This record gives sequence, C-alpha cells and structure tokens, in this order.
Amino acid sequence: MPVLRVALNVPLDTLFDYLAGESDENDVGLRVCVPFGTKKVTGVILEVCASSNLPPEKLKSVISIFRDISPLSGELLALFRFCSDYYHHPLGMVVMNGLPGKLRSNKPVSIETGMRQARFKLTEAGRRVDLSTIPARNTVMHRLQVVLRNEQLLAIRDARDISPRAVKILKDWMQKGWLETVTEIHEAHEVHGELAEKSVPGLTPEQSEAVATITAQFNHFDTWVLHGVTGSGKTEVYLRLITKALAVGAQTLVLIPEISLTPQLEAVFRERFSTARIVSLHSGLNDTERLIGWLQAQRGEAHIILGTRLAVFTPLPRLGLIIVDEEQDGSFKQQDGLRYSARDLAIFRAKQMQIPVVLGSATPSLETYYNVKTGRYRCLHLRNRAIKDAALPEVECIDMRSEKLVNGLSAPLIRAIKKCLEQQLQCLIFINRRGYAPVLLCPSCGWTAVCQRCSSRLVVHLQDKRLSCHHCGHLEYFPLACPQCGNQDMIPFGRGTQRIEEALEAQFPSARILRIDRDSIRRKNAWQMILRSIHHREVDILVGTQLLAKGHDFPYLALVGVLGSDRSLFSTDFRAGERLFTQLIQVAGRAGRATVAGRVLVQTDFPNHPLYQALRQHDYNVLAESILTERKTAGFPPFVYQALLRAEAHSLSKVMNFLGAAQNIVKSPPGIEIFDPVPAHMMRLRGMERAHLLVQSRSRRKLQSFLTHWCEQLSDLTKSDVRWILDVDPIEF
Ligand code: ADP
Ligand code: ZN
Ligand code: ZN
Repeated sequence: MPVLRVALNVPLDTLFDYLAGESDENDVGLRVCVPFGTKKVTGVILEVCASSNLPPEKLKSVISIFRDISPLSGELLALFRFCSDYYHHPLGMVVMNGLPGKLRSNKPVSIETGMRQARFKLTEAGRRVDLSTIPARNTVMHRLQVVLRNEQLLAIRDARDISPRAVKILKDWMQKGWLETVTEIHEAHEVHGELAEKSVPGLTPEQSEAVATITAQFNHFDTWVLHGVTGSGKTEVYLRLITKALAVGAQTLVLIPEISLTPQLEAVFRERFSTARIVSLHSGLNDTERLIGWLQAQRGEAHIILGTRLAVFTPLPRLGLIIVDEEQDGSFKQQDGLRYSARDLAIFRAKQMQIPVVLGSATPSLETYYNVKTGRYRCLHLRNRAIKDAALPEVECIDMRSEKLVNGLSAPLIRAIKKCLEQQLQCLIFINRRGYAPVLLCPSCGWTAVCQRCSSRLVVHLQDKRLSCHHCGHLEYFPLACPQCGNQDMIPFGRGTQRIEEALEAQFPSARILRIDRDSIRRKNAWQMILRSIHHREVDILVGTQLLAKGHDFPYLALVGVLGSDRSLFSTDFRAGERLFTQLIQVAGRAGRATVAGRVLVQTDFPNHPLYQALRQHDYNVLAESILTERKTAGFPPFVYQALLRAEAHSLSKVMNFLGAAQNIVKSPPGIEIFDPVPAHMMRLRGMERAHLLVQSRSRRKLQSFLTHWCEQLSDLTKSDVRWILDVDPIEF
C-alpha cells in the first residue's frame, strides 16, 4: 500500500505517514483527512512513497483524500518549503497557514463554491471507465459521459441543464478521480484600444523609461526598485506593466500594505482593465469569498490578484509579474506565528518563476536601498511629480522653543490653518501616534494609569471616560482620585487626536473637522465614506494618524501640520528615524497633489536635526546615506543579518532562565554573535512576561545554518510552560 507523507498543522517539524488504499504521485498537493490522536484533521499530501520508516503496525490509514479541487502546484509547495526553511517554522504549519480557512476544514469544498466557473474534463481514469458498468437505467450518467467524451469540457451550468442530479454525480466522479477541473487556457488578453482612451494619460519621460526598461526584461528575474517621489505616478507605471502582462496572458500579483487601500486601487484597476478578472484578497473577506478568489487564481482565471501580505501564498499558475507597493511598509512582515516578510517571499516567487518583481516606494527601506547600492536590485527613478505644475510641497519647521502653545498648537500653525480655511482649501493635522496617546497623569505626584496585565500606559478616551490598553485591549473607568496621593484633579496628558480635535474646534468654531483613527474606520465602508466626503469638500480640517498618510490623493489639500514627531528622533529603536522619515514624506506627499500648492509645517524642538533637513530638501538619499553610515558603525542591519529568539511565560525568571539555557546550549561558531537575553520592550503582554535573545551575523548563510542547528537543540530544551519562536529578520524588538 502506498504511504502518504502529510503536512499537518501541528507544531512539530515533521511530516506524518499514513497508509492510503489507492494513491500515486499525482496526489501530491491534494488535501487529505486523517486521524490524529483522537481527532480528525486535514493536511496536505507532500509525498507519496512506497514505504515508511515506521513499522507498518504503527501506521494508520487516511480517512479520505479530497479531490474537490486541483492539487497545490509544485511551485507553491516549493514556496512553502522555502518559507519553512528560512523562517525555521514547521512545514505543516506553514502549508496550512497559507491556505484559505475553508481548505483547512475537514469538509470538501462545496461544488457550488469550488466549481462556479470551472469546467470539467475526464481524467485518464475517467476515460478508461467501461460504460457498460454504468447501469443502463442511469440515463443521466450516460448522458454526462457522452457529453464529456465528445465535447471534452463541461461547465457546471450545462451539467445542471442536463439534470439537477448531474451536479451530485460530477462531485462523486471528482472524488473518484475520474474528473479534473480545467484551468482555462488564456489567450493573450485583449487590450482593446484602451490606451487610446482619454482617461489614460500619456506617460512622462521618466515613466516611459521605467516602463520600457522593465518590459524589455519581462522574461527574466530581476528585482526592480521603482523609487518615485510622492505623486510621481508610480501607479500609472504599474498599470502599464500590467497591461503588458495581460497582453501575454500572464497573471499579475499586486501586494499592498493596508486593507484600507484595496478599494481605491481596485477601482483604478477595474476602470482601466474593464474586461480583466480582478480578485482582491484581504482580511476583510469572509471565508467563502476568500476561497472563491483563491480558486479563481489557482485555475488561472483571475488576471490580477490584489492583496495584503497573505496573498503572497496564492497559487498562480501563469504568474508573470509581481508588484509590491510601498515596499518599506512594516505590515508586509507578519508579527506573530509564522513571522514571514511578504516582500521577501515575493522576491523568492519572482526568482522561482523567472519574472520581474517591482518594489515601489517614495522612501525605500534601508535594506532595499542598500541592495540597490550593492547592485543586487536595479533602481529606476521618478524624480518629478507626474502632473504638470504640481511641485513638491514646501516644508518648514516651526521652532517650538520660541513659541507659546495654545493647547498644543503654535501661533504660526494656527495662522496657516486660518489662511487655508479662508481660501476654502483643506488641511491635515498629522499626529505622530507612537508613544503619543494621552495618558492619565496626576499632576501633584506624577502617578500615571498603567495596565495591570501589560507594562504599557493606559490611553485616555475622554468621550466615555474610560482608559484602555492598546496592547491587550483591557478597559477600565477613570479612577475618581489618584490612587497614590488622593488628588481628585486628574488630567489627561499628551495630546492625542481627540484633544487636538477639541483645541481645533475651539479655535475654528465654524470649520468642519473630521478625526480619523482606527476606531473611526472600523465599520464596513466607513473608509470609502470618509474619502468621499474629503473629495466632495465636505471636510475642512482632517485630524489623524499614519492611517491618513498612505496612498490617498486629496486634490484640495493645501496644508499639512505635523505634531509630536520629535519623539521618534531619540527612540531606542534603531529603525524609528527611518520610519518617521517615511511617514513624514508620505503625509507631506498628500499636500499639493493637483494644482493647489502645498505647504507642510512641522512643530519641533530640533529644527536642525538631519532628518528634518532632509525632509525640507525632499532628499531621501542624503538621509539614507547618513543612516547607513550610522548603521555600519553600530553593526546594525543591513550590514548584519539578525534573528531574534522570542520567548514568553507567566514569570520573567522562567523566560530568562530558558533564554540563558538557549544561549549556553551551543558554542557560538565563528562569525555568529549571540547576545544576552533581555526583557522585551513591551515586557508584559496579555498577562505573559516576554524577553528575547538576539543572534546576528555578517553572513546570511552562516546565520541560517546556525539557526537550523540551534533549533534542533532548542526543541529538546523546551518546557511546556515557556513558549518560544524564532523571528528571522525581525523589525520590532
Ligand atoms: P505616486 O503613487 O507615485 O505617489 P500616483 O500614482 O498617485 O503617484 O500619481 C499621482 C497623480 O498623478 C495621480 O493623480 C495620477 O492620476 C497622476 N498621473 C500619473 N501619471 C500621469 C501622467 N503621465 N500624466 C498626467 N497625470 C499623471
Ligand atoms: Zn497623585
Ligand atoms: Zn494591557
């Protein structure tokens, strides 16, 4: 009997062997339901072998092999294997994590969902079926066989026309392996005169050059960095590249950082490619929607797949182009469980398929910038804004050391807002949220409200007089008096978005003010409503955090005020400066997009800091070079490769003991640096104590082989009360 080696979603780095009645190589990539302990679970067949290393009496039999959809392709399985090796995460968990929820369940996909647009074809086995074995009175079966043999392909719709019972029969035959679903063979997609239409702008010289350079290399693997200032028309470059991909019948994968950006970009794509099938995959979908999109991609029916990081695991048989927009964005890195970087996996996929991958950004990550410098990536520049006469906004610093503040607002900023309102233009007040939320402070003794479960300060929500923990979600009411000294005059300290909104209301009573934060966009469609009211000029002043910074086009926005950015200048996180710069370039980029000239005012105590100087000059390279020099001296990435062993337990001493043991379990080989364990920045989270241990090396290869060896040892060391995980290429500490 053949032995199936199955990937299961369990935290053990091994495959599991099962006996199958009938199976062969062709079943690799199919899902299979198997007994595991006392439960039934579903996994994926990764190998079919003649025998097992386990004694036969230990082997259990599979419950059933699902033949409801086509098997996962060899390429997708190779991606999972790479991901498992590189991030040192159990293969079974990687595979199952990469599949839509419905494919992880113990039930086959309902034929209506799975086969909606699919067409069926007889397999070799199906062709060999002797028709005389089908009872003569079963006319539906005979009819189906005849149609399938004559016409080759059968759509479910047509099957239903034959008989309502046909669907069930097809399902049985699928399960028997007599039928397979067919990937439509796409001829090159018609790009019908689209380029002549009025809505398509002629390219700027820089855009043309970028498009021409990349398309000249369309059949090769290359990592292209599209480095374009805000408003330089990177989207138009993407659109032209996708047009080329469509013209040769290839699929394009477009990865974007935020789910909130999906509808906007999707609308742009739909308008341009009205006849192409566009699938968007993001966390806002329900399980069925996600599965349908995934299947359309797998069958090669979807031309464009637009999605957030998880979409990097979508099966794409005819993948011809990958685009990663805002490649520097931290949300491409998963921050729990399998801590993969979707951007880096996208590059792996491009290499695997020998196709181009385009990383777009106004402020590439330092890692990417460095890869351009060393020649691993190829860079294309868009130095000018695409719309004629749209200059980059003028950036000025307001020196706060010589200004008196009115509720956090300086006089020059107030004057600028006033002028902006008089001209009936919009302004945006951007608040750097990192460490900036209002906390409850006792002015007489200095006590602040802290979360009992985390070490983080609680954030004040004035409206309902409550305090909330932004890390674990804990909620409580304001204390009536200071628990430490009894003072009853407790005040919120720090200027969060709500406080600033009040200050603005007081200053500009007739202005229409809209605050945007995580809470205000939670409802479905809230984001679209907000964008609409901005575009229809129903808003005068926008107040918000980094959510507002990304990718949106606000044609009437003339002024951006930046508050609280100084905090990131002196952070203990070595990436804080890079992040702040990116954010400020992005918010600044919101202003002056169309014909309205833009102005950016930054309230700061350090107007001469190099970061603000670079911002004033819109000079990414100067800052990137100065940060690179710092990183080189300090021995930080991109000059070294890092991995973090993260551990947590109910007591800190347990975590530290575990990490200490982990540190001593191996002698650090040459070229590998192992640091001492330290408590995490957010030491207590959801009631757990957390700490980590940093390992780094100048050689990625050395680091990887060390990690492989170390992981094996760690597994032996593991105690049930300490949880640990490796974070390769960590971006948060
Ligand atoms: P980026 O993503 O680089 O910040 P966008 O792609 O949002 O820039 O483009 C900025 C604006 O320029 C958009 O309104 C877009 O429609 C417009 N645009 C892009 N390319 C051209 C072009 N070649 N001619 C005229 N307008 C253009
Ligand atoms: Zn007090
Ligand atoms: Zn908490």
